[in-house]
Amino acid sequence: AAKKQCKKSYHFYTSDMNIEMLEKLEIENSLRHAVERNEFLIYYQPKININNENISGVEALIRWKHPNKGFIPPNVFIPIAEETGLIIPIGEWVLKTACRQIRVWQELGYTPVYISVNVSVIQIKQPNFVDMVKGIIKETGIKPYLLELEITENAIMEDFELTNKILDDLRKLGIVISLDDFGKGYSSLNYLKQLEINVLKIDKSFVDDITENNTQQAIVKAVIEMAHSMDMSVVAEGVETWEQFKYLKDLQCDKVQGYLFSRPLPLIEMEDMMRKKKKVG
Ligand code: C2E
Ligand code: MG
Ligand code: MG
Ligand code: MG
Repeated sequence: AAKKQCKKSYHFYTSDMNIEMLEKLEIENSLRHAVERNEFLIYYQPKININNENISGVEALIRWKHPNKGFIPPNVFIPIAEETGLIIPIGEWVLKTACRQIRVWQELGYTPVYISVNVSVIQIKQPNFVDMVKGIIKETGIKPYLLELEITENAIMEDFELTNKILDDLRKLGIVISLDDFGKGYSSLNYLKQLEINVLKIDKSFVDDITENNTQQAIVKAVIEMAHSMDMSVVAEGVETWEQFKYLKDLQCDKVQGYLFSRPLPLIEMEDMMRKKKKVG
């Protein structure tokens, strides 16, 4: 009933807010069918080993090809998927698709290239999430260390005790956990110490002006040192220039991800790049 009312009122009010609401409703409606209609794709973006410039892994990034709107970016539809609970089936699809791909690459000998999958806090808080992941690993026959889950810092801080427990259980499956968008939210170094995290991803906002801003430099340096002292490896997100790359290398960052090496690519192009690079590691 609420939806009908909203659509009706559109004829009487044309405020931006109503248009926004209508668009959101439209997206929500088509999102409901998107999984069954096979409208999602996964693009892959390489993570580059800063020392030898090989591909060490790739991040799976979802793309939605809407039948008449074209590509809708994840920043637009993921929040709606989270609000509506649709992130559960969508997230499961991403996880399954990525694990099947790991299996294929395992057979082709492209490994140890691993795949990281972004997971929403709504997903991991599902009581059966750990079992679901376990089931997919078993079903696809992948080596668990070739699967990495990326979870944002904010998601963890929202409910620290619970998420930490879940991350612990996930770690016990032998998969890798990374903390996404680090520095963008409320970074509490105290909390970080208590977390069972393997990889820390420094948010693009820190990388952006690393070559100019002394404060950012000092922060990134400290974060990398701290992460290493806790046995975490560090990935810098959104690296676009060689200048940034060089800076991060001097600071002993482990891996970089960004347009400098590659944009997220469709599967075929990603595989092409892996074959051309040959060596992985
Ligand atoms: P994220 O996980 O932090 O992913 C990095 C985003 O930065 C990606 O945007 C990527 O395309 C973009 N990026 C990478 N390198 C560069 C660069 O050098 N410059 C610039 N300007 N951008 C760069 P994308 O693919 O649009 O994804 C946005 C966000 O949507 C992701 O941020 C992630 O939070 C979310 N997301 C994507 N796929 C999924 C998914 O399957 N599940 C969930 N729950 N969230 C997803
Ligand atoms: Mg990510
Ligand atoms: Mg990120
Ligand atoms: Mg980010």
